[in-house]
Amino acid sequence: MIFDTHAHYDDAQFDADREALLESLNTHGIGRVVNIGANIESTKSSVALAEKYPFIYAAAGVHPSDAGQLNEDVYQWLKTLTAHEKVVAIGEIGLDYYWEKEADVRANQREWFVRQLELARECGLPVSIHSRDAAKDTLDIVKGHGRDVGGVVHCFSYGVELAREYLNMGYYIGVGGVVTFNNAKSIKEVVDYAPMDRIVIETDCPYLAPVPHRGKRNSSLNLPYVVSAISQIKGISPEEVEAITWKNGMDLYRMADASRQ
Ligand SMILES: [Zn+2]
Repeated sequence: MIFDTHAHYDDAQFDADREALLESLNTHGIGRVVNIGANIESTKSSVALAEKYPFIYAAAGVHPSDAGQLNEDVYQWLKTLTAHEKVVAIGEIGLDYYWEKEADVRANQREWFVRQLELARECGLPVSIHSRDAAKDTLDIVKGHGRDVGGVVHCFSYGVELAREYLNMGYYIGVGGVVTFNNAKSIKEVVDYAPMDRIVIETDCPYLAPVPHRGKRNSSLNLPYVVSAISQIKGISPEEVEAITWKNGMDLYRMADASRQ
């Protein structure tokens, strides 16, 4: 079975066929999905999906692009959600300097990234980190405030040097459709470099569909292409990639405890 550690099935692109698609996942070898909150609305939807489907879990958090939504009330609301039995992470949180160029907006992203890292530490949950064009500031903040928190850098888009830093702090590397792209040299190098027990698989669907479906709506059904790409780089069978990344997903989200399954 494949563990999709990062999905957005609440996205409007799934409105027409969400139920049928989700109900088909298990028969296609997708055993578990963590649906990731990115703002107030999608955190609510993620929890609702997790309550409806036994194999779906939720992450609660606010993405840097929506950091403007955050205030003390929202923070307290996120904190109460961490007690929900199917909320397994804080995320996605982080920095996105690709979309945000304004200094004060970036400063606000940093402030709430730190706060949400501290929330994760307080509640004993891992984090799902989003970082785009913000390599140095993300690393500085995780080193300063998230060293002992643990989690995953999702859709890892930096090089081996940065991967080493996160691996040294105990973080997992999130690998998705990009690893199948011909021009994606950097993530292929990172997959080659990272120990197999620190790689987790994700779709980030509806985004980032792997080749041969690049550019189309993505879903967990495409994950065998990601498994295959990793198996080629690592020189192990797809079955081994599935088994190891399944265990990694369970470890990342601390699901070993039977009461959480
Ligand atoms: Zn995402």
